[in-house]
This record gives sequence, structure tokens and C-alpha cells, in this order.
Amino acid sequence: MSYEREIVAIIKLRVDIQEILQRLEDNAAGDIGELADALIERVRALVRSGAIKGREVELLHLIDSLVFQGSEASTQILIRNVDAVLDLSVRLGVTAASLFKVPPDRIATLVRNFDSTFRIDLRTEGYTRWLEMMPETTLKPLSDFRRLMADGMARGLPTNKIAEAFVNGADLEIREDGSTVITDLPPIRQKIDPYLRARRVVRTEYARIDNTASIAFSESYGATHFRNFGTGDERQSLECQIASKSEPRTLASWASWVVDGLEIGIAPRHVANCRCLMIGVPPDYRDTISVDQIRKAGGIE
Ligand SMILES: [Zn+2]
Repeated sequence: MSYEREIVAIIKLRVDIQEILQRLEDNAAGDIGELADALIERVRALVRSGAIKGREVELLHLIDSLVFQGSEASTQILIRNVDAVLDLSVRLGVTAASLFKVPPDRIATLVRNFDSTFRIDLRTEGYTRWLEMMPETTLKPLSDFRRLMADGMARGLPTNKIAEAFVNGADLEIREDGSTVITDLPPIRQKIDPYLRARRVVRTEYARIDNTASIAFSESYGATHFRNFGTGDERQSLECQIASKSEPRTLASWASWVVDGLEIGIAPRHVANCRCLMIGVPPDYRDTISVDQIRKAGGIE
């Protein structure tokens, strides 16, 4: 059976959604990056003022409170965007439902169900993961500094030396024999890092929510087979390239699929910046559209 018209519509919508997702990611990552910068700067200012001598324990408490504030604030930023990501996935799911000739009133019921039931699960899962990931990744410099200070104090090392290294933007390493090693870190990296780290977390989580929502919605109208819709440009990884050319597979088949030792799996894959989306398609679905049509729809940049 040919699904030419529907697939072109899905690819077009997917391209639009990618653009909206990109803007959401940029905004969220920018806000969180700025927040991490500001928190690091507060600790720096305190260390520079020389007021920490003899007040190291207080400093550790301050860092704890900053990391807590930072993770709370960044979680709030991300939570604000989750509903938007879920809405985009459902929009695509509704379009994909046309492949199955699902009647409009049934679609309307499914959308309502998506709001009231498994949407809550998707959000809760996302929040929990972000709460775990945010302080770990975005606020890493602060956490590292805290660990170094606590470790230095426990070993009786000069904590002022550790604090100075942090302020000067250097990495400080405490060796097994108790000696400290300071390695230079270009100031520019210090500025860029929180943003890039935030971006990685935001992108990974959005892609995961996007795919989980798409799979859940497709399953709600009876899809058992899924196709991988990727972005066919030079940034695409080999796994995603192979996945994008595959015939429809069940989720179990995707999960266990290995090509020449390469685990393909379900999108988002464990590669940086996976932009693939799993969409439910009829089992007999085969690509009937040409590369030119995919390019015109925006599926290949
Ligand atoms: Zn991918």
C-alpha cells in the first residue's frame, strides 16, 4: 500500500517540530547556563574577598545551598517546556494516525486520554530524571569544588590553595600521595561549559520525552510497528542512518537489533544530539517516496 501523501505530511511536520524544539532547547539551555555561571560567580566572589579563611565549613554549606537552588531553578525552567514538547509529539501522532485511517472522533478521544492519563506519567518520569541529572551535569564545577574542598579539609591540605585554583579557573587534582596538581583551564571554556552541559541535558531529555510520547500515542491507536524518521544530513550518526533506512519493526525488534556489532536500538540513541523520531506505521509500510520528494519536504538538509 502507498502512503506517499501521508509520509510527506509527516516529514514536513517533523521538520517544523524540529525547529520549534530547537528554539525551546536554546532558550532552556541558555537560561540554565546563565544560572550556573551566576552561581559559580557567587562562590568566586566569596573566595576572592578572602573571607573564607577559617570559615571553610560555612563555605561548604553555601555551596550545598547554591547547588540546591540551581537545580531547583533549572528544573523549573525545564518543567515549563515539557508540556510544549508533549504537545508537539501529539500533533505529529495525530498526523501519523492518518496512515491507519483512524476516525477523527476516535483521535479526539485519544488526545483527551493522552492529556489525562499517560501524559502525567511521561511528565513525572521526565522531572525525576532531570532532578537527578541537573546538579550532576550543569552544576558540576560547583560540585567538584565542594568535593575538593571537603577532601582537602579532611586531609589537612591548604584549603586556600584549593580555593585560589578554583577562582583562577584552573582544574585542581589531589593525588594519592596527598599532593595537589593544578592544571590550567582556558577561561573561555569556563564560560561556555555550563551552557553546553545544559544543552546536552535539555536535548537528551527532550528527545527522550518526544520519542516516548510518540511511541505511546502511536500505540494508543493500535500501532505495533515503528519506523525511524531521522534527519538525513552529514551530522547523522551511522546508527541513525541505518535505522532511518530500515523497514518497520516492532519495539522488541528495534531494541535487540545489532548490525555488525553496532547496537541500533530505539531513538534517541546513545549518540550526541540524536534527532530521530520513532513513529508508528502500518506493518506493510514501505518507502514509496523518492529521495527528491523527501528533500522537498525538508527531510534531508
Ligand atoms: Zn538519531
